[in-house]
Amino acid sequence: MNIDTQSCVVTGKKSVAVVAQNVEYSGQGTLVKISRGGICGSDLHYYQEGAVGNFKVRQPMILGHEVIGHVVKSDAPGLKVDQSVAINPSKPCKQCKYCLSGEENQCINMRFFGSAMYFPHVDGGFTQFKVVDTDQCIPFDNTLDERVMAFAEPLAVAIHAVHQAGDVKGKTVFVSGVGPIGSLLVAAAKASGAREIVCADMSQRCLDIATRMGAGKTLHAANGDFAAYADEKGYFDISFEASGHPQSITRCLELTRARGTLVQVGMGGVTPEFPMMMVIAKEIKLVGSFRFTSEFNTAVTWLGNGTVDPLPLLSGEYPQAELEQALNFAADKSLASKVQLVF
Ligand SMILES: [Zn+2]
Ligand SMILES: [Zn+2]
Repeated sequence: MNIDTQSCVVTGKKSVAVVAQNVEYSGQGTLVKISRGGICGSDLHYYQEGAVGNFKVRQPMILGHEVIGHVVKSDAPGLKVDQSVAINPSKPCKQCKYCLSGEENQCINMRFFGSAMYFPHVDGGFTQFKVVDTDQCIPFDNTLDERVMAFAEPLAVAIHAVHQAGDVKGKTVFVSGVGPIGSLLVAAAKASGAREIVCADMSQRCLDIATRMGAGKTLHAANGDFAAYADEKGYFDISFEASGHPQSITRCLELTRARGTLVQVGMGGVTPEFPMMMVIAKEIKLVGSFRFTSEFNTAVTWLGNGTVDPLPLLSGEYPQAELEQALNFAADKSLASKVQLVF
């Protein structure tokens, strides 16, 4: 079976287009009609720089890894026509030592949607029709709000980061940087029983969203008064650094109590001046967080049953044909948090 599809591709720096493509469905896996997708930081990097870090776009690549849709055809009898599904963008190899021990996010052969890490690149989900592995499809009730369900992937990232902190129940939590991931971290920490959540950001707009998503208190990163939280070697049991800025990492280390935990989620930010002495002397547990494993299913459940309401983060929706406008709007951080494409 051969299907015509319109795909959102990036071909290099500042070069994107919606192009006609062909999808071949052999009867294996699940053919999905994509309905909606969220634009993420990596999509914006591919658009603005033609690369994410060292991974340069060398051939047209379909963007997008935060997509949901409806089943057209599936090899699984349980997946009926028109069933709504959230698509897990991870495709681990299921054979390496990490996959075999349930640490699939560390898979050495990971094929993640919309990534130029390999050549040929792995296409993403911003296209009308896509064939995926059936186990990438997480069904959800057809009556649920699709704007909400399209947050499954970023919420999974946030829930995984909360899991990296250990038990957050009854704990005091600091979130530095409340873009989409930071605000979802707030909601995930709150849903996991955190006692007190304080946030910092340079943007008042983002701080207001964090408040709507469960933050008890917000402080402006530049002129807020953090002094009381730095007393006695720090206040917070757990800090989540979600901006990647060097000053933000230093602030997290200052405000985390001795023997507390810092979960690093934001990318970048390591400088030669990294205050390692604070990690040592305060015996901070410094732990990284990257993508997710089974948290994707948890995210679908939490969005479906209202445990987390991500809608304060939704800044705009664009039809697929307006890909470039959508990317330009999403890139303006003074206006936009999450922007979604509708297919
Ligand atoms: Zn994402
Ligand atoms: Zn693997």
